[in-house]
Amino acid sequence: MAKPSNDTCTFCGRSGKEVNMLISGISGAICDICAIQAYEIAMEQTPSGKSSFGMNQKELPKPEDIKAFLDQYVIGQDDAKRYLSVSVYNHYKRLLQKITSDDVEIEKSNIIMVGATGTGKTLLARTIAKLLHVPFAIVDATVLTEAGYVGEDIESILTRLLQAADYNVDAAQRGIVFIDEIDKIARKSDNPSITRDVSGEGVQQGLLKLLEGSVVNVPPQGGRKHPEQKMIAVDTKNILFICGGAFDGIEKKIAQRLNTRVVGYVAGKEANQLDRSNFLKYITPVDLKSFGLIPEIIGRLPILTYLNPLDRKTLRSILTDPKNSIIKQYVKLFEMDGIKLTFDEDVYEYIVDKSLEFKLGARGLRSIVETIMMDAMYRMPSKNEKELRVTLEYAKDKFEGADTSRLQIA
Ligand code: ADP
Repeated sequence: MAKPSNDTCTFCGRSGKEVNMLISGISGAICDICAIQAYEIAMEQTPSGKSSFGMNQKELPKPEDIKAFLDQYVIGQDDAKRYLSVSVYNHYKRLLQKITSDDVEIEKSNIIMVGATGTGKTLLARTIAKLLHVPFAIVDATVLTEAGYVGEDIESILTRLLQAADYNVDAAQRGIVFIDEIDKIARKSDNPSITRDVSGEGVQQGLLKLLEGSVVNVPPQGGRKHPEQKMIAVDTKNILFICGGAFDGIEKKIAQRLNTRVVGYVAGKEANQLDRSNFLKYITPVDLKSFGLIPEIIGRLPILTYLNPLDRKTLRSILTDPKNSIIKQYVKLFEMDGIKLTFDEDVYEYIVDKSLEFKLGARGLRSIVETIMMDAMYRMPSKNEKELRVTLEYAKDKFEGADTSRLQIA
């Protein structure tokens, strides 16, 4: 058998003179044309059948695995966790399907989460991002305005994703975007012709383009400050959008709808079974429409889920149970100075009481612990004490002696 030569491409047989470049290996060579082709094949599918995000179908985390991961960081909110887990799993499957070139095209299912502020929407999105091997960006819908008005263009959403993907367009095109405060772009009035609704319907129309899947020209630096920048074309077909919003006052609309229905069709029995403390449970796309989202947007967010308000038990659990709970973080901070920090059980109840009293929700828990611990964090690192036990008396003394006007309002 003839020995492979380094003067011709081992793959296509062209000689060095016929190609631009010939790269030599130990027992052969590859020309530039074959190298590019090989690269493209490798990008499409690696020999192990893995996708470009490094997993094959078997290795994909299953919805129950995704939920178990979320459970480590987020307390409660089971309904939202289940919906998110399934959607993310399906997102991965759709990405895998692209490389197996099946002919049944799976469409993506964007998600909308409705829940009061501070109930864990962003936390869920961030936690999902930890688990994922795809680029992830969080953007705030409040800054978006129609092109030509003060604020940010819709395309800036994709700028964030591109940045999260280190400007790798392929990676960005299979990423996930969390759009927070989506309720803030609801139409303000039922009659859009009275004044121009700069941050309402026009923004929804713009957003629709992204949600539907289209090729969008994105300014890589974002904003309008760099008019000279070269646009990057990004296809949003495979980007998963997760939207979140508090939709303040939507409970009233849900209650109205349920009451009319109950009065209209069924006798008191169904009405009595309603959980009146949490109307969000019964949310449907109709309620989003009466709140001011346009039907086209609602249609592009087929998965609708809700978050429960945080009750006393949940707040208590948030304080200590998550993998990186607030209390665990403080214990760690002190441990780094060689100090053993412990809390009496009734201190936790006190912290929850204060959070409820000041109506601070879960966000307030941190501010309250911070207030109680501030003095010790200031003093102890330069002292020789090796232990701090926070008793109820100590906590009360520190909290009541502090200026509580600076506590963060949720
Ligand atoms: P939202 O996006 O719904 O306004 P966040 O997700 O930003 O609320 O929640 C604010 C903070 O409150 C989080 O960073 C977290 O510390 C805490 N928190 C809220 N809900 C939960 C929850 N269900 N489990 C654990 N922590 C929570």
